[in-house]
Amino acid sequence: MNAPDTRILHRQIHHRLPVAAHASGVTITDTAGRDYIDASGGAAVSCLGHGHPEVIAAMHAQIDRVAYAHTSFFTTDVAEELAAELVRTAPEGMTHAYFVSGGSEAVEAALKMARQFFVEIGQPQRRHFIARQQSYHGNTLGALAVGGNEWRRRQFAPLLIPVTHVSACYEYRGRADGETAEAYGQRLVQELAGAIDRLGGENVIAFVAETVGGATSGALTPVPGYLKGVRDLCSRHGILLILDEVMCGMGRTGTLHACEQEGVVPDLITIAKGLGGGYQPIGAVLAQGRIVDAFAKGSGLFQHGHTYLGHPVACAAALAVQRIIHRDGLLTEVQRLGYGLRERLQAAFGAHDHVGDIRGRGLFQAIELVQDRASKNPFDPALKLHARIKAQCMERGLMVYPMGGTIDGARGDHVLLAPPFIATDADLDAIVGRLADAVQAALASVR
Ligand code: PMP
Repeated sequence: MNAPDTRILHRQIHHRLPVAAHASGVTITDTAGRDYIDASGGAAVSCLGHGHPEVIAAMHAQIDRVAYAHTSFFTTDVAEELAAELVRTAPEGMTHAYFVSGGSEAVEAALKMARQFFVEIGQPQRRHFIARQQSYHGNTLGALAVGGNEWRRRQFAPLLIPVTHVSACYEYRGRADGETAEAYGQRLVQELAGAIDRLGGENVIAFVAETVGGATSGALTPVPGYLKGVRDLCSRHGILLILDEVMCGMGRTGTLHACEQEGVVPDLITIAKGLGGGYQPIGAVLAQGRIVDAFAKGSGLFQHGHTYLGHPVACAAALAVQRIIHRDGLLTEVQRLGYGLRERLQAAFGAHDHVGDIRGRGLFQAIELVQDRASKNPFDPALKLHARIKAQCMERGLMVYPMGGTIDGARGDHVLLAPPFIATDADLDAIVGRLADAVQAALASVR
């Protein structure tokens, strides 16, 4: 075994990584002077790109004022302003924001908030969560339990709370021949109804889903009417709907919250990545007023908490990021650039023998690789095609977010793109051009 490169325990222990030296706009430069276009925003994080002077100035100013104040003693102007901004722009009925340090923490908080809500209103028998296959909600134990990525879950399964998983909304692989997208969506709603009936609707806390699937599934968009059907079904049973928009939210799909495009209002939304744009670690749960009211009328507290809740510098960064997004009209820009990215992907891969699906919304687009388009069979996961594509992209100075296929063929390798909202058309040309070359090189290496 080689000695580890560094003393930091990275995910892959003996993996040699370039060392990031500086970053500006859409580009990260390593210590060898090589530039990489950040076409994935890291992991759909860097919505404003790197080195934005206004965000950095806001963080500096906050460090000078108050760098840290524990939330059991103080609130801060900046946390209150950020909460007000998020509530102002949130789906109807959401009155509060709960600030944590990232996506997994947001999901954990949402799961516990949902459970405590039912305890507060006298329905303590509700103890089941339903979530979806091919989903990702984070790597802490609660978030991992609701997640539907078998590879990530397998070795930790004995430690996880039991969760019922239903099918993902995965049109490319799930919709039957001759079935309309709408009928497919309703079939999925019926599957969820069956799961609810088996558990007893009165025993279910919440249904948890990514509005647009990300880390495990590669920009899986809901078919028309599916989430509306889910919302109605949950409401009929008094079950909460938790939409996890950690990856797809905060403008990534062209509206601030992806669920706006579905006409669906959830009970809880989790957000993170694009909230602070990577300038600071921050996530949040946005909650419906009736949930917060139940806490206020009941025990008077949410029985949860972390040391860095509402961290002032993280809130200052997020407030600056969000104000810039609105001031500079970047949501409209995401829509425009999103169409441009999709067009370029279509031109490069629309007739490609090994690209079965191109999907996504806004600046959240993915390609799925297959052995051939007719069978839709994925490549053998042992070939690690996704990792080869990532390596070929890095060789060409391009960061993309790859994900492997599954042994059972339920999912092919795919590549997710989530460039910063400040990307230019020329950046999109370079991104898709380099990706196309990298995919060819990776495919040549497995033939
Ligand atoms: N939920 C979703 C939908 C995510 O995509 C992610 C991260 N990829 C998480 C939760 C976990 O976020 P974090 O990595 O910040 O803990």
